[in-house]
This record gives sequence, C-alpha cells and structure tokens, in this order.
Amino acid sequence: MLHNLRECYKIAPMIEIPPYEIHSIITGHVRLDGGAMFGVVPKVLWDKVCDVDEHNRILLATRTLIAIDRKASRLILVDTGCGTKWDPIAADRFAIRYDENAIPNALANLDLSTDDVTDIIITHLHFDHNGGLTQWYDEPGEATTLRYPKAIHWLHRKHFDHASHPHTKDKASFIKADFAALARADNLRFLEGNQPESSIDGLSWWVSHGHTPFQLHPIFGNDSKRLIFCGDIIPTIAHLRLTWVMAYDLRPTTTIAEKEWINGHGVREGWILTFPHDPTHGGVAIDGTAARPVVSNQIQL
Ligand SMILES: [Zn+2]
Repeated sequence: MLHNLRECYKIAPMIEIPPYEIHSIITGHVRLDGGAMFGVVPKVLWDKVCDVDEHNRILLATRTLIAIDRKASRLILVDTGCGTKWDPIAADRFAIRYDENAIPNALANLDLSTDDVTDIIITHLHFDHNGGLTQWYDEPGEATTLRYPKAIHWLHRKHFDHASHPHTKDKASFIKADFAALARADNLRFLEGNQPESSIDGLSWWVSHGHTPFQLHPIFGNDSKRLIFCGDIIPTIAHLRLTWVMAYDLRPTTTIAEKEWINGHGVREGWILTFPHDPTHGGVAIDGTAARPVVSNQIQL
C-alpha cells in the first residue's frame, strides 16, 4: 500500500512534478573507457571534468528514477541498474559495483517496498541500464526470473527486436539473460511507433534513435512543469554539450539533433533534465540556448 509519505520525504531528496514525487537513486557504479564516453572530444578536455582511473576509465553512476503518484497508488521505476548476474572477470573489466539493496532501501525509506512497484520503464536493454530486471533463479548461467514479477514492464517493441538481433557494433551491450525472462512474461507491454500514446496519468513518451534504436524516454508532469529522463542521449551533465557524444552511439549525428531537442525544451519551457549516469547530479534545470546550454540549477534529487 502507498501510505502518506510526507514524513519520509523530509529525509529523501526529491522533486515534485505533479502528480509525481520523483527521486533519483544510485544503484551502483561502473567505469567505462573515457574515450568511448566522449567520442571525438580529446582527453585534454574531458579529463578535467571526470574521475579517471589508471586504465583511462571514468566513473559513472547507474541511476534509477523512482516516481510516485500517491493518489493513483502508482509507483514507477525507470531503469534498474546492472544487476547481479556478473562473473568476476566481466565485473572487473567494467569495475561494476551494484548494490542490490539500493532500490529496496530507498523504497523502505519512503515506507514502501518492492511489492508496491506497479510499473517499470525500460529505456533500453543495455546491461548497465537493465541488467537489474532479472536475477538467477537458482544457479548462475541457468534460468532467470524477473525481480519485479508483479509490475507492468514498458518497453518499445522495436527496441526489443533490435536487442534480440543487435548490430555487430553494439552486440556486447546486450546480454540475453537480462531480458529472456521478460520475453516470456505476460506483464510486458510493448509501445509502438515514434509517438506512442500513454495510458498513464501525467506521463508521456518520447522516443530517440541516436544511441540505440527506439530508446524510450518518460516525460513526467504537465504543461506547468515537466521532467524528462534523458537516458543515454545525455548520460551525464558533461554530455549537455552537443558534440560530447558517446562513441557507443549507433547514429551520433542523430544524437546531436536529439540532444538539441531536449535542451530546447529545457531552455524554453523549463523542463528538468535527469541523467542516468552522472555520479553527482540527479538532474538540472538549464538556460542559455539549445546549442549552448548552461546549468542554472542543480536539482536536489
Ligand atoms: Zn548507459
């Protein structure tokens, strides 16, 4: 049950985007190659703004948004982090640290539990975003089960198709065990087309293609105030700059246009931008221009 959470929110950073109360929590960290994270941008520029290790890897958080609509008894998670299905060699390669108690503890602090999760929004199926959807049922390497078996799982159908048959370039980002159980689940809801209709109050969808085909971005709120989860179009605050685009992206010039679209809404309409990988910033407000955004407010969430 969703209780009156007012007391709990005093201890958990959040932002109100009616009808939602939204938190950004860190489920873990990874380290990815700094050059891959910034594409054509030279290291002399990006190493000034990143925590770089001896292997040239930069520190990235994996973040989950928690959105709560108390009146509707709706509890939404956006992405679920890396999960625990890692062998030591692969975990070491990416310096993966995943706290499987992060989401349960954050929910407990809000007087909620994982049983209260009604919806999971899967932006895309790269392992650093949704390895946490599933866990080993018994033995590592064998069957998996969903971590949130009662929740509706939202995903774009064409992204699922791509993840099931990825390009050689991005094949390493998709791990079949992360989503095999999802394919069999009756609580998977596919979204269709470039402008999917939303059946959830105070939530609309935006779809991007630069990083990976049919990445799904939730936009919370209404005309008076909106918040977007930027996903891997703007993974960290450093990626607000248009040309700071990841080498992982399948269509980097599309990413630049999509970034400009997000920034434009941030500058003109005051949208809050939230990031999946920034180690210190859950979200920001921006001003300036879409091409040269300036952070005006670091949002506490
Ligand atoms: Zn990512």
